Amino acid sequence: LVLGDCEITALLDGTHPFPAAEVLTKARADKSAGRSKLFTDDPEQANALLSASDLKAPTEGSINAFLINTGSKLVLIDSGAGTLYGSCCGHLIENLRASGYQPEQVDEVLLTHLHADHVGGIAPGGIAAFPNAIIRSSKLDADYWLNDENERAAHDFLRPMFEGDKASLKPYILAGRYLPFEGEQEMLPGIRAIPTPGHTPGHTSYMVESRGQKLLVWGDVVHVAPIQFPDPSVTVEYDTDENQAEADRERIFADAAKQRYWIGAAHISFPGLGHVGERTERFMWIPGEYTTRMSVPAQ
Ligand SMILES: [Zn+2]
Ligand SMILES: [Zn+2]
Repeated sequence: LVLGDCEITALLDGTHPFPAAEVLTKARADKSAGRSKLFTDDPEQANALLSASDLKAPTEGSINAFLINTGSKLVLIDSGAGTLYGSCCGHLIENLRASGYQPEQVDEVLLTHLHADHVGGIAPGGIAAFPNAIIRSSKLDADYWLNDENERAAHDFLRPMFEGDKASLKPYILAGRYLPFEGEQEMLPGIRAIPTPGHTPGHTSYMVESRGQKLLVWGDVVHVAPIQFPDPSVTVEYDTDENQAEADRERIFADAAKQRYWIGAAHISFPGLGHVGERTERFMWIPGEYTTRMSVPAQ
């Protein structure tokens, strides 16, 4: 994707079966009664939404990352799972090389949050994959995921994430090249961090802008597109704050549909580049047109 003066390359880390039936939740009609599992409480709605896209649970989840060449800097947003998800994934580096870049050339890695499928690729097997890069994420996520007490108190499902985070960040922390940041700010010319907390305490989306064109690399705003575009109130149970994640998603969908900027999505089928559309009180995903022609042929 060419965005003004920036070249955007979607990089696939791998795909894996996403346990939609186990982890998707929705608020009960009586909001004070909390949330219930979508496939347990309303299997008809859940299956109808999936079958409208010819799918069944578990759906196949892509893990996408995005490389931004601004002309002066090479910036990677998210890094895939590295060795933390097994052999399905961890293919980011080979796909980066196939795109004509070397890991040594990456200047900065911006992480949307510190879940294993976003941070693991910075240090597969605990060894820094980007020897010249600075790693950045929200300080709120660093404070949460690098804290031993939170690890002891966490959901079983999330506990391995803490160990994965520590191992992935360790070589960069030791080298003084992990620099957490706070709040909304410009990270580099044309790349702005926008806090979108809920999925994790410091979940951050990054707005890339060049010559009036915009791309929001939104991280984990969507896990199962065929369900969450028509019903953005559906969340994943391992959101730190499911209600806040739901509110974020509705707000971002509405803004993206109105302003028509590009979206780079971590877990929508590769390459995860497209737009949000709005149709009669529902949202939809409009994939970008795919082409292998890199320039317009001479007339
Ligand atoms: Zn996540
Ligand atoms: Zn994720």
